[in-house]
Amino acid sequence: MIESLKNFFYPSSICIAGASTKEKSIGYELLKTILHYGYTGKIYPVNPKTDEVLGIKCFKKINDISEHIDLAIVVVPKLYVEETIDRLISRNVKSIVLITAGFKETGLEGESVEKRITEKIKNAGGRLVGPNCMGVINTSDAIKLNATFVAEKPEHGTIAFLSQSGALGAAVLNSLRETDIRFGHFISVGNKADVSENDLLEFWQSDPSIKTISLYLESFSDGESFIKNFADGKINKPVLILKAGCTEAGMKAAVSHTGALGSSDRVVTAVINQFGICRTKNLTELFNSAKGFESFPLPVGNKIVVVTNAGGPAIIAVDALEKEGLQLAELKEATKMKLRDIVHPEGSIENPVDLLPGGTAEQFKSVNQLVADDDNVDAVVSIFVEPVMVPAFEVVENINSVTADKPILQVVMPLPEFWNQYRINSKYKTPLFRQPEEPAKVLVNMLRYKNINRTVERLKPSKSVLELKPENRFLSPSEINLLAEHYKLPLIKSFVLNERELGKASFEIGFPLVLKGLSSEVIHKSEAGAVAVNIRNSEELIEASIEISKRFNRQGLALDGFLIQPFIKAKHEILIGGFRDPSFGPMIMFGSGGKYVEVYNDTAIKSAFLSEQDIDDMISSTAIGKILAGVRGEKEINISALKEIIKSTAQLMLDSEEISELDFNPVIVSSEGEFFIVDARVKVW
Ligand code: ADP
Ligand code: MG
Repeated sequence: MIESLKNFFYPSSICIAGASTKEKSIGYELLKTILHYGYTGKIYPVNPKTDEVLGIKCFKKINDISEHIDLAIVVVPKLYVEETIDRLISRNVKSIVLITAGFKETGLEGESVEKRITEKIKNAGGRLVGPNCMGVINTSDAIKLNATFVAEKPEHGTIAFLSQSGALGAAVLNSLRETDIRFGHFISVGNKADVSENDLLEFWQSDPSIKTISLYLESFSDGESFIKNFADGKINKPVLILKAGCTEAGMKAAVSHTGALGSSDRVVTAVINQFGICRTKNLTELFNSAKGFESFPLPVGNKIVVVTNAGGPAIIAVDALEKEGLQLAELKEATKMKLRDIVHPEGSIENPVDLLPGGTAEQFKSVNQLVADDDNVDAVVSIFVEPVMVPAFEVVENINSVTADKPILQVVMPLPEFWNQYRINSKYKTPLFRQPEEPAKVLVNMLRYKNINRTVERLKPSKSVLELKPENRFLSPSEINLLAEHYKLPLIKSFVLNERELGKASFEIGFPLVLKGLSSEVIHKSEAGAVAVNIRNSEELIEASIEISKRFNRQGLALDGFLIQPFIKAKHEILIGGFRDPSFGPMIMFGSGGKYVEVYNDTAIKSAFLSEQDIDDMISSTAIGKILAGVRGEKEINISALKEIIKSTAQLMLDSEEISELDFNPVIVSSEGEFFIVDARVKVW
């Protein structure tokens, strides 16, 4: 699979189907950009109407090209796309970038053509990028391919960038001379008819010229495969994602609490964090972090020192650091003493170190060197606001020359002329940041990447115990019993019976007990007045059953029977649930339970491919988890038993693909610290 992508970035020859002599047309601009950037391979433009385009030989038909074609870029009008693809296939072209739009994004008809073309290419053993995309770039000297219509000359670097949106990709390329992002590879994947982020992740992981992978996504092609790549430890390069479309509502038509609380955006955030991927909020954050990975060593810890010549920006920087959970380093006395010799007497030798507006380039250099050499410091944020008397360029270059194996992130707030001067004259070209709050995110992303354990044991699917047909129903109590037994889930002993059998069953369970009216029409029993708790004797039992029957009658609900179970005096009510996300597959949820789950909204979700650490994180990230672990000297409950229940529930979700949603709500924690699942609902597709 990886080999099949190679020619998209490393072609020795390319064919441009639809090259044009008409200025400002895509077929013209694309070829012009390719020539302008200095592609090192052979170029075969094709256009039936001309022999020459932009000074090079043009072929009338694809079949006229007798040499081998590694990569075809197709920009012909939509009407000719299929015919062109057929020709390319017949010429044994295996890598095709289809830039032309007007397919799936336009409706059903376009979708079916797109499908047909994709199948043809795949059946011939080829791969398709696009359609509706804007091309590919490889900046390496050996290739020098800019097969997009943005006439920029991107500088070479180690960042790979995938954009699902063509326009956004173009915008990023347009801004290169301002943002100084240095790409190794760029690809716009458009409709992702074939090649998707999953292919490229694998490809870039294996390509030594790429150090950091950055993705702009609007949707995941196959979220479960995406996270499996990480779960299996196959991807270990830093991966940064900007995922747009954050406001999607919860799972449509969710029938459980778990489903309703598991909105797709929460799922995305949860899995991204779980597998050590960095989710960024905007493009600045995405590329700042990518540059961070590209240019700085990973910080060892979270102790940061701020060096500045201005108070305000330093405060903003410190706020941002603290918000990200980073800490201000405590400088060693020895460091402070040395700083005292350099820093103006009215400046500060405490962190943030303040050189005052008079701080010179030499002072900035010595101070940065001193704090970077301090063992208590893991990273430096150096801020320079250009005053009248000290030129920015000198300061920045001086700091760039500091030798340290720690990141030194510079924030520069100069006159606008500075940026061009830096771009042209800098010896180091280290990335600079424009706002004092920016370095915090970069450092936290680098730290998170460094701290993630990529080789942890995770739960894996095994064989399902139930032969379930996907028939869109809730499992019966006896089916749930079977599951609970197999997965050692602490399901409370219950009996399902009719009115007349109540008396007998109450003997077996004993008082106090709980009576629940059952109906296939009722999802939340307490809402229908179908739950009577703490029933202490037979009279109360009869009374409660009559009351429930009446209520059902009044609401026109069919009463299918009663369920009785022991009454457990609850110390806490928790929720453990699972659902199958349409993209990311089996998910697991833990949090505060009971009737008011939606109100408390105190839940954590993760992919069911759990590690021990994930389970600990789920528990400790919720309020109820913290309470269970023991607050204010309260006796802590048996957390390892709780972890086992979460683990078994996740295993159940992994094993039984037919289960779409399940809800154990509540799982009661008794005053003795024991767990009882008193309400279990399991839905199959
Ligand atoms: P539903 O969720 O359908 O409304 P539940 O079976 O979860 O019905 O019951 C609702 C509430 O009743 C629970 O949140 C809990 O407070 C209480 N409850 C249910 N079963 C028991 C039980 N066996 N012991 C103690 N309290 C219970
Ligand atoms: Mg319930």
